[in-house]
Amino acid sequence: MKQISWLGLALVLGSNVQAQHRCNTSEYMENLINQHPEITANMEAIEAHTREVMAGASTERSGVALYTIPVVFHVVYNGASENVPDYVLQGQLDVLNEDFSATNADISSVVSSFTSLWDDTDIQFCLASVDPSGNPTTGITRTATTRTSFSFTSDNIKRSADGGKDPWPASQYLNIWVGDISSGILGYAQFPGGPAATDGVVIDYLYTGRDSWASGPGFPFDLGRTATHEVGHWLNLRHIWGDGGCGVDDGVSDTPVSDNPNYGCALTHVSCGTLDNVQNYMDYGDDDCLVMFSAGQGARMRATLVPGGSRASVAAAAATKCSAGPAPTCNIPTGLTSTIVSAPTTASTSWTAVSGAVGYDLQGRQAGGAWRDVSVSGTSRTFNIFKANRTYEWRVQADCGASGVSGYSAIQSFVMPASRLGATGTEMSLFPNPANSELTIDLMASNAGQVDLVVVDLLGRALMTQTITMDGSASRVQLDVSNLNNGTYFVQMISNGERVVSNFTIAR
Ligand SMILES: [Zn+2]
Repeated sequence: MKQISWLGLALVLGSNVQAQHRCNTSEYMENLINQHPEITANMEAIEAHTREVMAGASTERSGVALYTIPVVFHVVYNGASENVPDYVLQGQLDVLNEDFSATNADISSVVSSFTSLWDDTDIQFCLASVDPSGNPTTGITRTATTRTSFSFTSDNIKRSADGGKDPWPASQYLNIWVGDISSGILGYAQFPGGPAATDGVVIDYLYTGRDSWASGPGFPFDLGRTATHEVGHWLNLRHIWGDGGCGVDDGVSDTPVSDNPNYGCALTHVSCGTLDNVQNYMDYGDDDCLVMFSAGQGARMRATLVPGGSRASVAAAAATKCSAGPAPTCNIPTGLTSTIVSAPTTASTSWTAVSGAVGYDLQGRQAGGAWRDVSVSGTSRTFNIFKANRTYEWRVQADCGASGVSGYSAIQSFVMPASRLGATGTEMSLFPNPANSELTIDLMASNAGQVDLVVVDLLGRALMTQTITMDGSASRVQLDVSNLNNGTYFVQMISNGERVVSNFTIAR
């Protein structure tokens, strides 16, 4: 990762400038910083916090519950053709939820070089059901205007006094304005750290949603990916080429460095020595080309939503601004139990079912080794991979499907004995020894079950046999040995083919 400064940012749009401008966020931010130089310090502080969070966590999904962001669409229209219908806006929200959870149908088109890179971001969106005054709302405002278009330089769509619409509190809602933006710009976003009065995302009405309607769709930007891209910026994602060529990174370590935006769907395009991830939502391809966020991008976005993050208050507002409240949590599994099934190879792991879980991710290791992962559909799993006298550790997390994954449970550990009856024979003690007429045998077996006691002589001949049932605690058996001659004998304790042996003598 390299340091990036928005000041002095070299804007590289490439030679392939089109009539439509995929995204004007870089130009918008440069303009904003020129007007409000103090934003730079905010953005630097946010970047420092982001690095701190990302350094402390892997780029794997965080294991926390989903973050949910309340959304309000502000439709600002001049004439019915710009008055985007509710169902198109609902469709746009659906696209955001699919794309941010990697449940979009076209995720399967990711080229093989990047199939290990895409991930669910654990971020979802709701249409706000409560407005800033506490009243019920559809999460959609509609404002008729006499303006025929809005410009990103004046940002006038965000001001009621200028024919636009004032935002709802940016600390509680993601404001998405939908209107006619001049100069063929599809959309632009404000990064975290800017003024609350202009915070949010702007989408041209032609490129909103994925549903055909009177004035849409705006092929080839007709699948709602403009909003996915711009909301990525709103959550602090940069363009995948870092807006500065091969020498500038996007602040995400798992995305390949790239020199310039890609247009269309140039799947084989190589720049800076590596294959470009042109299917990334933060590139400039057509809507049917953009299908994935990387795991690292998810981690970078979540860094804005954790406590202390620049968008944390918006995610927290879901509890009161979304009718369903925040997404249900996926609880950490409890009741972990390890059972030695057959020493020294086989043990089973089990835990209590978690409400809403569709499966579990089990991790196990020999103590001190690397974790290995197994997906389990039920609440137990038996393994026959163990070795005697070694310590094993395991833990489990629940996968609640659309509700995300839980954190990992506490680590459960066990030592695999050489024998189910114990490795040393100390579970069996004989007394008195030497014996005379009666021998007392105290047994301790950790597992319940049937145990055969066999008295053998030095030649291995079985002289006496007794079967007892152990209940998992200590048992005492008394044998009449008055018929045995003076000499040395053995007591074998046998269970499931395993045996423990102790000797005693008869001396009269
Ligand atoms: Zn952009």
